[in-house]
Amino acid sequence: MKKYVYLFGENINEGNVTQTELLGGKGANLAEMSSLSIPVPPGFTIATPACNVFLKSNFLSKSIKRETVKSLKKIEKFVSKGFGDTRNPLLLSIRSGAKVSMPGMMETVLNIGLTSKTIPALIAKTQNPRFVYDSYRRLIMMYSDVVMEKAEQKDDIKIREKLESILDKYKSKKSILNDSDLNCEDLQKLITKFKNQIKKSFKTEFPDSCEEQLWGAIEAVFKSWKGKRAIQYRNIENIPHDCGTAVNVQTMVFGNLGKKSATGVAFTRNPSNGDDSMYGEWLENAQGEDVVAGIRTPKPINKSSKTAQTRQSRTLEETWPNIYNQLIKIKDKLEKHYKDMQDVEFTIEEGKLWMLQTRKGKRTGEAAIKIAIEMNEKKLINQKEVINRIVSKNLDEIMHPKVDPELEKINSPIESGLPASPGGACGQIVFSATDAETWHKKNKSVILIRHETSPEDVQGMYVSQGIVTAKGGMTSHAALVARGWGKACIVGCSNLNIDLKHKTVSINNVTYKEGDWFTINSTEGLIYDKKLDLVKSNFFRNKYFLKLISLTNKFKKLKIRTNADNPKDASLSKKLGAEGIGLCRTEHMFFDKRRIRSVQKMILSKSDGDRKKAIMELLPYQKNDFYKILKEMSPNPVTIRLLDPPLHEFLPSQKNTDLINLLSKNMKISAKEIKNRIIDLFEINPMLGHRGCRLAISFPEITEMQVEAIFSACAKLLNKGFKPNPEIMIPLVSTIGEFDNQKRVIKKVAKKLNKKLKINLKYKIGTMIELPRACLTADQIAEKADFFSFGTNDLTQTTFGFSRDDIGGFIQDYFDNNILTEDPFKTIDQEGVGSLVKLAVKKARQSKPKIKIGICGEHGGDPKSIYFFNNINLDYISCSPFRIPIAYLAAAKAAFRS
Ligand code: PEP
Ligand code: MG
Repeated sequence: MKKYVYLFGENINEGNVTQTELLGGKGANLAEMSSLSIPVPPGFTIATPACNVFLKSNFLSKSIKRETVKSLKKIEKFVSKGFGDTRNPLLLSIRSGAKVSMPGMMETVLNIGLTSKTIPALIAKTQNPRFVYDSYRRLIMMYSDVVMEKAEQKDDIKIREKLESILDKYKSKKSILNDSDLNCEDLQKLITKFKNQIKKSFKTEFPDSCEEQLWGAIEAVFKSWKGKRAIQYRNIENIPHDCGTAVNVQTMVFGNLGKKSATGVAFTRNPSNGDDSMYGEWLENAQGEDVVAGIRTPKPINKSSKTAQTRQSRTLEETWPNIYNQLIKIKDKLEKHYKDMQDVEFTIEEGKLWMLQTRKGKRTGEAAIKIAIEMNEKKLINQKEVINRIVSKNLDEIMHPKVDPELEKINSPIESGLPASPGGACGQIVFSATDAETWHKKNKSVILIRHETSPEDVQGMYVSQGIVTAKGGMTSHAALVARGWGKACIVGCSNLNIDLKHKTVSINNVTYKEGDWFTINSTEGLIYDKKLDLVKSNFFRNKYFLKLISLTNKFKKLKIRTNADNPKDASLSKKLGAEGIGLCRTEHMFFDKRRIRSVQKMILSKSDGDRKKAIMELLPYQKNDFYKILKEMSPNPVTIRLLDPPLHEFLPSQKNTDLINLLSKNMKISAKEIKNRIIDLFEINPMLGHRGCRLAISFPEITEMQVEAIFSACAKLLNKGFKPNPEIMIPLVSTIGEFDNQKRVIKKVAKKLNKKLKINLKYKIGTMIELPRACLTADQIAEKADFFSFGTNDLTQTTFGFSRDDIGGFIQDYFDNNILTEDPFKTIDQEGVGSLVKLAVKKARQSKPKIKIGICGEHGGDPKSIYFFNNINLDYISCSPFRIPIAYLAAAKAAFRS
């Protein structure tokens, strides 16, 4: 016969922690604590299969009932009390407990077994009528809500609200502040009022039979598995819907029995900063729900749990040092046994300590890292386990300043969007990049609000504290740029009604004007319409973070490079552990105000001579930038990509008459002619036309200038004793012919300059593989190329995978349907783009086994894609600076999982 019920408690225990599937997390851990001789009020778990049996038929089968009664008899004997007994009555708590913890999503009923028969007995026994009536009052409130209303799926009655309003009215009439100040008479009056309301709402009496209460509560817990909240939670957390919950039936112990009783919750370590000291709260003369529900303000259990508000409160340690020491011993035992930080619930009944629950404690990123490292130092867990316990979200979190979590608790957001770049920011709102710059110059902090951003906005974006866009997805321009800088950014806030003319934004019918204060929490995608304080990140100096990175370095196989195109980013990325630059986008160096003028001159000039002259204006800038970047990274490699984007990106948009007129004045060319040229040059996605190497084939002087800049910078560095290590990368190649053409141009200039500058610079020539045709011809290109770097951004677009903004929509779907994975965006599509990458690697290594291969598209910063790149044996990945630690972690995990 199938066994459905398992006892727990010291000496009668039948389960253990490996049985979470069967007993649920709570039941399995109660059994485990029992076997560790930790004081747990005895009881039994009705296992999860019983839930599924129940949900099929909607009633408790005879065999389940029989087993339950049998186990209850054993517990009665064990504690020498009787359920429904009129001399020494046993009361029970009935709690849910699924395999995966679903906090607050399912039901609990306490004090089961109080009836007109047992109440007098309990009063006689405890000599504490107030306690008994208070317990009965709680039973009525919980049972009528959980069993009588929710289990019948009648949320329209709202019995809880009705009873609470009766309670509130009563208290205010009698000027009573706290529930604990209600006396015996008050409670009896309230009980009568409650029962009348229940009869009115449900047309039935409150059950006065212990058995009826017991079965009602068990069934209600099983039914709560199918409650709306529980289903939504499982969808979000990806918990299967068919595992069911267990029911834990447990002897009640009372924290509300009087002055020597109490209840509390604690973490075995500090869950916000990871400090190795117990952190918790307690309340005298109370039941567990009082601590969680925030009805009374709990007190700190020890000095390190004190907050600004509870500074004066007496701790458990001071009040009952003996019990506190018992708790500390149990804490040590639990941590040693579980090898992880635990979250526990306890009750003190008349001076005796009972443990009601233990489970893995939720923690912040900072705490997760510190706890794992310290547990490794104490030899509780090994190095691989440290790495496995940290997830990329933990790292993301510690790197960015964030909105003070205490302030977020007491303020409500006005709008939410996609969390494009994690962190927090606070500033006055502005609606254009130019305004952002103007305000910034006046030393003001701004939040830039746009429909969407474009390369023209970059300067304004850079000086803003945070960026919010109404449109766009997780890989839109704003998202990409902001993530690269580690700047707070929320995109796709569809409820923003921006009025650029009047410089206002309306959100849900409230209008905000330029200069109003906003705060954004871009880790969660939340916007607040006030100034909230931020707390700074000092992860650079966090020794636990540094230890974690050096651990991952021990295991990882992939090299981690960064995408950086200015000296500042190069230096930042070096601090973050970059082992080279995998992509230096040279066009980013041209967006500066003075430089873009030369680029525009180059584009618009009519003669070869004029064009050359304009191009040569760029040489000193480019040389200077390369010098600083190569110096920063020396002797590590820097992959410099020759000019890539189509020329229209350097000109104003066709509609921007102001800029066109200005350009016309500066260049002495008619506005009409400029506009025609812009239309001529315009390329749409996926951009296969006149850009990348094809642009350079038309205008080889661009390549020549860029190579000259690289060589002159290197010559200067070599003379100063540095070891510059440039890798010249040709963009957007599709066939060997294009590659050959550019290689020839580079080699010719290189030869000339090595001679002229009297150096012997070693350099490499490679290409980006970002077009399907390049993947198919990878064997031929590999014969001539020193290295490949996959440009998975363009490759995704050109294989008609997700375009950048489609990925945003795709994420929106994920949010709408409440399905979230660790990093839903930027994960390489293994069937599409991924299979082309795989094919290209295979072909390339067939013709040149040792060819160096990396990837520098956005997927380089995505953990799941990093597993993929590790498994197909790439040499390196390259990602934005702030993704480097995440890439280290993913690369280490990938190395020991593959
Ligand atoms: C790519 O296409 O993946 C790439 C890195 O180049 P860009 O994003 O600059 O086009
Ligand atoms: Mg590209």
